Amino acid sequence: MIPRIAPFCQTPSWQKQLNNAIRCPTELLRQLKLPNSLLAAAKESARLFPLKVTHSYLARIEKGNINDPLLRQILPLIDEQCPHPDYYTDPVGDLDATPVPGLIHKYRGRALLLATASCGIHCRYCFRRHFPYSNHKSSNNWRQAIEYIQKDPSIHEVILSGGDPLSLSNSKLFRLMDLLEPISHIKRIRIHTRYPIILPDRIDLELSDYLHQHRCKIVTVVHSNHPNELEDQVRDSLKLLNDNGITLLNQSVLLAGVNDSADTLSELSEQLFTCNVLPYYLHQLDKVQGAQHFAVSDTQAKALIKALRDQLPGYLVPKLVRENSGDSAKQPISG
Ligand SMILES: *Cc1c(COP(=O)(O)O)cnc(C)c1O
Ligand code: SF4
Repeated sequence: MIPRIAPFCQTPSWQKQLNNAIRCPTELLRQLKLPNSLLAAAKESARLFPLKVTHSYLARIEKGNINDPLLRQILPLIDEQCPHPDYYTDPVGDLDATPVPGLIHKYRGRALLLATASCGIHCRYCFRRHFPYSNHKSSNNWRQAIEYIQKDPSIHEVILSGGDPLSLSNSKLFRLMDLLEPISHIKRIRIHTRYPIILPDRIDLELSDYLHQHRCKIVTVVHSNHPNELEDQVRDSLKLLNDNGITLLNQSVLLAGVNDSADTLSELSEQLFTCNVLPYYLHQLDKVQGAQHFAVSDTQAKALIKALRDQLPGYLVPKLVRENSGDSAKQPISG
């Protein structure tokens, strides 16, 4: 008989893969056969926000292609260093909405728990690239956040975010979810994660079995921006989650040079649906300092959504939204 769960003394394969993630710009350029002229800027920009990419994700990037849409998401560029007056370090006002360390409570009925500061990949456009995680040391100290949730019966959904909550080992993640599960006013636990996309082995049987057994409804919101990200192993990991009764949604960020075309977005929706994932949000870029070169105008964004509406069933068209500091919800951008 094949054991379903690896003995606990073994480091799971996904953790080994994570430890081996590429963090060195020289190595990245070498593996992808990219010109050395990119190196100085990559090193400089990686100092502001480190480079990090898994080999699994790297394998989907075309060698020698500076314009590869997946490469653009992870390669530190000189553009990150041009300060812009309309871009901020806390673009969505998260710091004003943290009643206790490690918890962001902005919207009615939902609270977002910063389960860990760590991610499996560093997306250059990330709105939390400047977030002061060291002030929110939450991965081992969820007590205050859990107490806050316990005391507020209006919270029906806890969103595990970060960082990426699936950076936690299974045992830590299960410990956290076991603290949430008995709180009777919690109906849903939502997991915001990029792992199924960037390191599909993270979705192991131990995890999918655990998620299957919950009283709370489990919703997983993955983050894919381009159809090239959806290779076979990614599809398998999404299938495993779906087979275990987990609702799967996708959020994307609209990014210049990555997915700012109707054909790309339409193909992404079509491909996601073959994996039982429904498109949820298409985010307008949060104005985070260092990401201005990814911006797409609202006019173009609206035109893209219109083009999607003209060619896809309504349920495959994501909602175009923007997050503004101080708003009571993500704001639809309608045209
Ligand atoms: C985005 C977000 C949510 C979830 O909003 P939905 O519109 O329900 O997806 C909750 N809390 C915070 C702080 C958020 O940024
Ligand atoms: S996985 Fe999410 S939180 Fe992590 S760097 Fe990418 S966008 Fe930011």
